[in-house]
Amino acid sequence: MKQKIQVPAIHTLLCTPEAAGLLHEFPRELVTDALRFAVKKEREQQMQTEKSPATNVALCKVAAALLQKDYSASCKKVINATGTILHTNLGRAKLSLAVQEQLYDAAFEFTNVEYDLESGTRGSRYQHLEKLLTKLTGAESAMVVNNNAAAVLLLLATFCRQKEVIVSRGELVEIGGSFRIPEIMQLGGAILREVGTTNKTHMADFEQAFDPEKTSAFLKVHTSNFHIQGFTESVSIQQLRLLADQLHVPLFYDMGSGILVDLKKYGVQHEETVQEALAAGADIVTFSGDKLLGGPQAGVIVGKKTFIDTLKKNQLTRALRVDKMTIAALEGTLRLYLDEQEISEKLPFYRMLSTPVEVLQEKARYLKGQLDELTALRSEVKESTAQIGGGSMPNVQLPTFVVAVRPTVFGVQHLETALRKLEIPIIARVQQDELLFDIRTVEKEEIVLIAQSLRQILTGKEA
Ligand SMILES: *Cc1c(COP(=O)(O)O)cnc(C)c1O
Repeated sequence: MKQKIQVPAIHTLLCTPEAAGLLHEFPRELVTDALRFAVKKEREQQMQTEKSPATNVALCKVAAALLQKDYSASCKKVINATGTILHTNLGRAKLSLAVQEQLYDAAFEFTNVEYDLESGTRGSRYQHLEKLLTKLTGAESAMVVNNNAAAVLLLLATFCRQKEVIVSRGELVEIGGSFRIPEIMQLGGAILREVGTTNKTHMADFEQAFDPEKTSAFLKVHTSNFHIQGFTESVSIQQLRLLADQLHVPLFYDMGSGILVDLKKYGVQHEETVQEALAAGADIVTFSGDKLLGGPQAGVIVGKKTFIDTLKKNQLTRALRVDKMTIAALEGTLRLYLDEQEISEKLPFYRMLSTPVEVLQEKARYLKGQLDELTALRSEVKESTAQIGGGSMPNVQLPTFVVAVRPTVFGVQHLETALRKLEIPIIARVQQDELLFDIRTVEKEEIVLIAQSLRQILTGKEA
């Protein structure tokens, strides 16, 4: 004989202490819906199997999990233990705490974002950034849009519509998240004129492709996220400048990561800076705000004033315009560059990039020490390598130290998932049957949290 279905009434569940806790956190309507869902599931399960009825506490737990999943903050802090400093999926650059006050005011106070305090009339939102950007890069003029993809789009749509843009075949890059040079070209209404080959492009290739009727620009694209080795040749901005002058063609450079400092000082090889690209003769340089600049998501456009003035007049600029919080965060970040001494201390990207390996080793040992008492886990401090990330400098391998852990009670995948599902998720690297916590991107105070979380997952105990 079939067993009778036994589920409590919703109003009964709503009176339990567990539901009271949920009502404290979520509106009544949402709690009621979640409890209804839990009861419905329970009823279905009882119909299909001969299980004993769930307790009220268990039903409230199902509802709680549902409410947490759907309605607690979704975009939130995570701990980056991947070692990748600019992890695009983890928000790229962490902002400097030095911008905190300015960012706070932009968000929670009225601001002069488009108000000229000198004249008491309408101002430009670019005024806050232009002076800093021209001072730091040596450019005549500057403006900022939503991201670097938008900057390139705006450039093409303004100067190259229905016309050809000459690009080397070795520079037709794809950046993660579907930014591809050929496609952005099409979107901007420009016609891509590829020259050269994948590994070699010469000055003469540009010269031969030039057509006074059709050519609107030379575009150089930084091959940010890949590196070709061997029999290669590309045309530099200096060389292209000579040709551009001779043929009266604008010269644009999509630099991707906009570097303002000599990276050699931070322990990696020198990469062309924005200043150098402008000095070499680019009319316009575009770059990201949240890659090696270490600021918020933004697309910075610097270069000749006549070009920038024309860009500002394009209606598309309005559609791609930056928010006041971005302006505040970017201005605050750029102000740090006025005193270069400050950046390795104050900008998280440069702080993490230049942390000496001995310090990393010490931090890794500290984490391992915190885990030694856990019998359900084996851990080891190991040397490893990390990446800069954000599609920048793929050939740079940063030496680092990791704590490699291996649970003895369940598989490494299970541990990786459990860490991801914590209230403050911890993202680590799985390598074969080990989980690696790369210390380079982990802050001191986060080490304790990692240890606590592992203890909780492995023993079920809080402290
Ligand atoms: C990263 C990158 C882009 C895209 O910049 P976003 O700021 O992510 O939009 C475009 N071009 C190059 C060369 C890049 O490296």
